[in-house]
Amino acid sequence: MTAGAPSTAVVVGSGPNGLAGAVVLARAGLDVTVLEAADEIGGGTRSFVRNGMVHDHCSSVHPLGAGSPAFAGLERHGLRWAWPEIDCAHPFDDGTAAVLRRDIDSTAAGLGTDGDRWRALSGPFGDGGVLYDDVLGPMLRIPGHPITLARFGIRALVPATVLARAFREDRTRGLFAGIAAHATTRLDRPGSSAPGLALIAAGHRNGWPVAVGGSRAIADALVAELTAHGGRVETGVTVTDFSRLDADIVLLDVAPRAALGILGDRVPSRIRRSWLRFRRGPAAFAVRVVVDGDIPWRAAECGRAGTVHLGGAAEEIAAAESACAAGRLPARPFTLLTQQYVADPTRLRIHPESKDPPSTNGGSCGSGRNIMAYCHVPHGYPGDVTDVVLGRIERFAPGFRDRIVDVESVGPAAFERFNPNNAGGDIGGGANDLRQLLARPRLSPNPYATGVPGVYLCSSSTPPGGGVHGMCGYRAAHMALAAIR
Ligand SMILES: Cc1cc2nc3c(=O)[nH]c(=O)nc-3n(C[C@H](O)[C@H](O)[C@H](O)COP(=O)(O)OP(=O)(O)OC[C@H]3O[C@@H](n4cnc5c(N)ncnc54)[C@H](O)[C@@H]3O)c2cc1C
Repeated sequence: MTAGAPSTAVVVGSGPNGLAGAVVLARAGLDVTVLEAADEIGGGTRSFVRNGMVHDHCSSVHPLGAGSPAFAGLERHGLRWAWPEIDCAHPFDDGTAAVLRRDIDSTAAGLGTDGDRWRALSGPFGDGGVLYDDVLGPMLRIPGHPITLARFGIRALVPATVLARAFREDRTRGLFAGIAAHATTRLDRPGSSAPGLALIAAGHRNGWPVAVGGSRAIADALVAELTAHGGRVETGVTVTDFSRLDADIVLLDVAPRAALGILGDRVPSRIRRSWLRFRRGPAAFAVRVVVDGDIPWRAAECGRAGTVHLGGAAEEIAAAESACAAGRLPARPFTLLTQQYVADPTRLRIHPESKDPPSTNGGSCGSGRNIMAYCHVPHGYPGDVTDVVLGRIERFAPGFRDRIVDVESVGPAAFERFNPNNAGGDIGGGANDLRQLLARPRLSPNPYATGVPGVYLCSSSTPPGGGVHGMCGYRAAHMALAAIR
């Protein structure tokens, strides 16, 4: 750094966005300290060992992570991605499944008369520049690829239920609606197609891979890059007020209301008002299951897929998402299932940190398979829907329940205790309605700015929103550096 230039930075929170921001600042020569409330780094990318195997606490599949500029170069710190043969499968009651593959041609070939429409829907947006520079950025800015972005924007504004009708076959509509439902929002509202279109574009560009050895490998690699540039992480430190933040640049990997708690009256009233208006979204209720042997999927494609969407027809998915958004538990909640071992067989090995008895078969967990499934429930839902989630799997894999060895349930309150950013069980950093897609958490060319000099929000409550891509932290850090330069 030049004499008199800012030289210190503090980052609050070690989620993928906090760590990605910390890396940008450390690479720019600042002395960076990350303060993390939990005893462990990683936020939503933490993993743990249970039943001898590595499970991911939260994020497990990373369509937006594998090609992200925020994670570029992390291979040198051991981060490796692994791809399943099929990226995402969407089973139906007749025992068939529609599938998303990284290769757009084979995806299109599997979608019958809808193949060309699928290609037209997603084709141009998988370009790395378009996806990461324009689509996954703040709305109020001059895009690098205005024409392609405008084409994306026109499609993204259309409600997912309307866009789904462009397909002739129910199977394609179901596949599209399942991917769109990652937005956890009403699918009949303008803007509801946007997150799904980005996931499809990323899928055809990066695939939907997992991190070898557990999602924690992403956080470990970011911390290795940070420390290689002189930075450090302190865990077990909950930041509650501004006095801890004596640095030239501060990044806050927290939700807007939590940032208000830390910054207090320093936040200008117009920004305070928009942060208070910022709404959280519906919640997740997860079950982590160990199964004896393979899941008896009726559609064979599901057994070869890293992600399986258990939602059935597009109409069923749209009804479930509408109910959640209205605060009602759907009769058939949309459920996402991940089976990371399909891509990463290391997940089936006895982990060195396992306290379980050693296996007799050379280090594998025998016939045990670990999966996670979570369904969308209303914000803050207090009930236990373990049985409902297991029923969603059983519907497409009869006999599944008979193979269950162990089940652990994590509801909205537990997700919030695990990480205050998941307030009310919302795992996406805030509702994904049109207003909050445009104004996240407020409409501004620099939505990361807090109005407090040198202090920036960088959590998934800022653009481009939820998911493990690090782009919120990456952009917030670049905005901070641009401001001081
Ligand atoms: C069940 C579940 C499944 C998911 N599946 C996927 C998936 O498959 N793929 C995907 O891409 N995304 C997935 N996600 C979403 C993804 O995990 C998040 O979008 C992502 O982790 C957000 O990153 P972040 O850095 O903004 O915040 P977080 O990862 O939430 O990290 C924030 C960190 O800040 C810390 N913190 C908060 N307040 C303070 C404070 N006051 N002082 C100090 N530290 C503080 C927290 O302890 C936490 O470590 C999933 C999330 C959940 C919960």
